[in-house]
Amino acid sequence: MRNRSLFLIILAAIPLILQHAHSQEKNKLTVLTSFFPIHAHTLAITGNLANVIQILPPNSSPHDYELKPSDLVNITNADLVIINGAGLESWLQKIVKNVNPKIQILDTSTNLPLLPNPQPTHNLEDQNEHTHNHPSSQAIPTQEKINSLHENSHHHHSHKNCCHSAQSLNPHFWLDPVLAKAQAQSILDALCKADPQNAQSYQANAASYFQKLDQLHADFQKTLAQLPNKNLVTFHSAFTYLASRYGLNYVGFIEKCPEANPSPKQLADLINTIRKLSIGVIFADKNYSPPFMEKIARETNTKLSFLDTLEFGVASPNAYIERMQANLQILRNSLSPQP
Ligand SMILES: [Zn+2]
Repeated sequence: MRNRSLFLIILAAIPLILQHAHSQEKNKLTVLTSFFPIHAHTLAITGNLANVIQILPPNSSPHDYELKPSDLVNITNADLVIINGAGLESWLQKIVKNVNPKIQILDTSTNLPLLPNPQPTHNLEDQNEHTHNHPSSQAIPTQEKINSLHENSHHHHSHKNCCHSAQSLNPHFWLDPVLAKAQAQSILDALCKADPQNAQSYQANAASYFQKLDQLHADFQKTLAQLPNKNLVTFHSAFTYLASRYGLNYVGFIEKCPEANPSPKQLADLINTIRKLSIGVIFADKNYSPPFMEKIARETNTKLSFLDTLEFGVASPNAYIERMQANLQILRNSLSPQP
């Protein structure tokens, strides 16, 4: 965000901040969460003991959100800001430091084993080497087809700080239940520190939440281990951690985040690989499926399924568990052999 627009946002927020200062419920801890998974973990631990506010509106992407003046009211009044980290919420970190330099920011990615942000279709090249068949002329899409796929790949997102910045880590680790539990643990620690009076209740809530996360992990392990087909092709690189946790073979993805457009070469490589490996299903994002995914599915005669990246929506205490269970059912149904 440019300094000038930051200044204008702050200016516009001043009356809101003054007005809000009088009405705020001051006896409770006020916690600001960046987006859905962070919000769900925090709610599961605080129950009704804290004011927990999610910054991201339900339909905005954490990859490219721009703060509104009303967000500054929340930042000004918060005791604690909790983010996913790994570069995902750079739009938030900068402005928090400007508006409220003393506020504590918990970065839940600290000390987690993060994976590098791979290049789109990077895995495909490795795959192609191992499965070097004699490509039939039919397996190679014509340039005309590739161009038409590419034209349809331009979508409504604008290029922001996500895909072309120097950030080199893949931020989607919340989709691995084991790392999600580690995030919830660091949220618990930060809450207990910020609000020691309620620490016992937070710990009790967290204990039962951790059990549910353990169960989720066990369900993923058991269900995915039984699948004969573990080939995964997705729209954006959100499922790298989940794939590596449960032994899925991440054959390829098209974008490392939903803001960039794949090149014609990347699309052609992906189409070739899908054909060579006899991939039966490809996964688009549940909340954002660009038309070119349907085209790829048609071109390659694969089924198109939809996985939830959990980047959208507003959370309730059980929402992370429920939406991940839904993902597990989709993976199971889509990757199971068809009768
Ligand atoms: Zn993403």
